[in-house]
Amino acid sequence: MGTGLREANVVTAAPGEERSPALALVNTRRLSAGGEVDDLADATGRLGLPATLGADELRRVTELRAAVRELLAALTEDRAPSADAVETVNAAARADAAAPQLAWPRREWRSTRPGSLEEALATLARDAIDVVTGDLAPLVRPCEAHGCVRFFLREHARRRWCSTTCGDRVRAARHQRLVVERRG
Ligand SMILES: [Zn+2]
Repeated sequence: MGTGLREANVVTAAPGEERSPALALVNTRRLSAGGEVDDLADATGRLGLPATLGADELRRVTELRAAVRELLAALTEDRAPSADAVETVNAAARADAAAPQLAWPRREWRSTRPGSLEEALATLARDAIDVVTGDLAPLVRPCEAHGCVRFFLREHARRRWCSTTCGDRVRAARHQRLVVERRG
């Protein structure tokens, strides 16, 4: 985890990330002009993950992230996701159970493994299952900006990009193309 200002890492959350931690997880992997950027280490708190992840934990989180990405991609491409991705998400979702616990005089549903990585991964995996099977599913869209790999929830019919940065980039490229065409 770095400190100080890293210009390349300043990116706004995509629409819908506040409604779906699984979407936020997927979007921690993105592309920039300099290549692939991984924001996972900076996003652990936001995603309910332990602040620091060991190598094995990091591998499990990135595996789940790749599997959730595959679910979102399959959803938007109108195909079935790979069996591996489904199994990875299902395994994470069942690795922690919620049980009714008595907090006299109330009943509360609590994790059977509170504070564990399993609890955090299960929460993310269950959210992914909710997203692809529930009301949000028709809203999931890939960003249409060239070279962007993020997804967002299209809450406004005309939205095509995950961020104003991507929208501006597309508009700038279009403008550039027009200028070139006029010259030619
Ligand atoms: Zn984008």
